[in-house]
Amino acid sequence: MPAPRIEIDLRKIRHNTRCLVDRLRPRGIDVIGVTKGVCGYPAVAQAMLNGGAVGLADARVSNIERLRNASITAPISLIRTPMLSQVEQVVSLCDASHNTEIAVIEALSEASSRQGTVHDVILMVEFGDGREGILPSDLEVIARRVLALKGVRLKGIGANFACLNAAPPDSVAMNRISCLADAVEQSCGVLLQVVSGGNSASLALIHSVGSLGRTNCLRLGEALLLGVEPLTQTKIAGLHTDAFCLVAEVIEVHARERSDRTTKPSSISERIAEVCLPHARIILGIGQQDVDAVDLSLPPGTNLVGATSDHLVLETRDRRTKVGDEMRFQPNYSAVLRAMSSGDILVELGPDQPEPASQPNGHPRGIGSTQSLVSKDERCPPPRSPRPLEHV
Ligand SMILES: *Cc1c(COP(=O)(O)O)cnc(C)c1O
Repeated sequence: MPAPRIEIDLRKIRHNTRCLVDRLRPRGIDVIGVTKGVCGYPAVAQAMLNGGAVGLADARVSNIERLRNASITAPISLIRTPMLSQVEQVVSLCDASHNTEIAVIEALSEASSRQGTVHDVILMVEFGDGREGILPSDLEVIARRVLALKGVRLKGIGANFACLNAAPPDSVAMNRISCLADAVEQSCGVLLQVVSGGNSASLALIHSVGSLGRTNCLRLGEALLLGVEPLTQTKIAGLHTDAFCLVAEVIEVHARERSDRTTKPSSISERIAEVCLPHARIILGIGQQDVDAVDLSLPPGTNLVGATSDHLVLETRDRRTKVGDEMRFQPNYSAVLRAMSSGDILVELGPDQPEPASQPNGHPRGIGSTQSLVSKDERCPPPRSPRPLEHV
C-alpha cells in the first residue's frame, strides 16, 4: 500500500452526522455539512448527506466546484464572504452565500440577473469573534438594501463563533440573534427562513442551555469529521473520533547503542530506565509539507524529536521497528486539512455502508432531548506522546 496516505472511514463520518442530525432535529435545527476541512472531497460530502445533512457548505469556490464536478446536486452555500472577482462562479455553483459587504451583494445581484437566476443571501452578523460580520446596529439598513435588489433573496441571518477568537458562543449572543431576526422581519416585512447559529462550537451551548432560540441550522465541520467539540477537544458522546488515520512509512532506523556499561543493571530503577529508554531513532517519509507534527497523536511508545519539510523524526521504544514499516497517526482537524491539501498524500477510502449494529464506545445512539450532546467527562485520548515538542 503506498504511503504516505490518509485513510478515511466514511461510515464513521456518516454515523457522526446521523447522530447529530437525530439529536438536533427535535430542537428544530438542521445540519449543514461543512467540507472545507477535507477540501471539498466529494465522497466525504456524500457521507455527510447520507447521514442526513440537509446541505453542504464550504469556504472556497474551488472546493465547491470540485463538489459540483462530482455531480453533487445538494444545496451548497459559500460560507466565506464571496470575492468580487468570483461572483459569477458563486452564482453559478452555489445556491446561497454568506455575506457581509453590500458591494459584493450588489455584484451578486448583477451576476444572478445576468445568469437569469436567483441567489440566496445570508447576512453574517458580528458577535465578537472579530472575523466577519455586519454590526448588529447596521443589520436592518443592509437587509433593506438587499431586499431592494433584483436577483438576490434575503434568506436569513447567521453568526460565527470561536474561529478567530476562541470565545465560545453564549446564550446572550443566541438571544441577540433571535431578537435581531425578529426585528428585521418586523421592520422589513419579510420572513427569514434561516437563522444560522454557528459552527461545531455551538453544540456545547445546546448542552448547557438546552435551546438556541430561533437558530434553525448549524454549520458543522469538525464535529462531523472528528466527533469532537472544537474549543475543548471534548469527545461528543456516541461519535467516532477516529474516522481519519494518517499512515507514514519508516525510511531509516538508527538503533541506540544498547548500553556502554559492561555490568548488567543491578537496581530495579536501573533496569526500568534501561527498558524505558528509547530504543531507536526512526525517520518517516512525511514532513512539514504534509502535516504539522504537533497536530498528530503519536503511537504509544514514541516521542517526537522533530520534523523538517520532508522528514518526521521520532524516538521509539519498540525494538521491532524496521525500514518499510508503517506507522499510524491520528490527525486533528488542522492535520486533516493539511494532509488533504498536500497533494502528496494518497486518500484511501473506507466504504460508506450501513452502520454496523454495534455502537461505538458503547454509547446509545439517538440521544433524546433531555440528554447531553457533549459529555464533559469523556475526553479524546490525549496525544500519546506527552508534550511532544519538548524534544525539539
Ligand atoms: C469553518 C466554518 C464553519 C465550520 O466550523 P467547524 O468548527 O468545523 O464546525 C462554519 N461556519 C463558518 C462561517 C466557517 O468558516
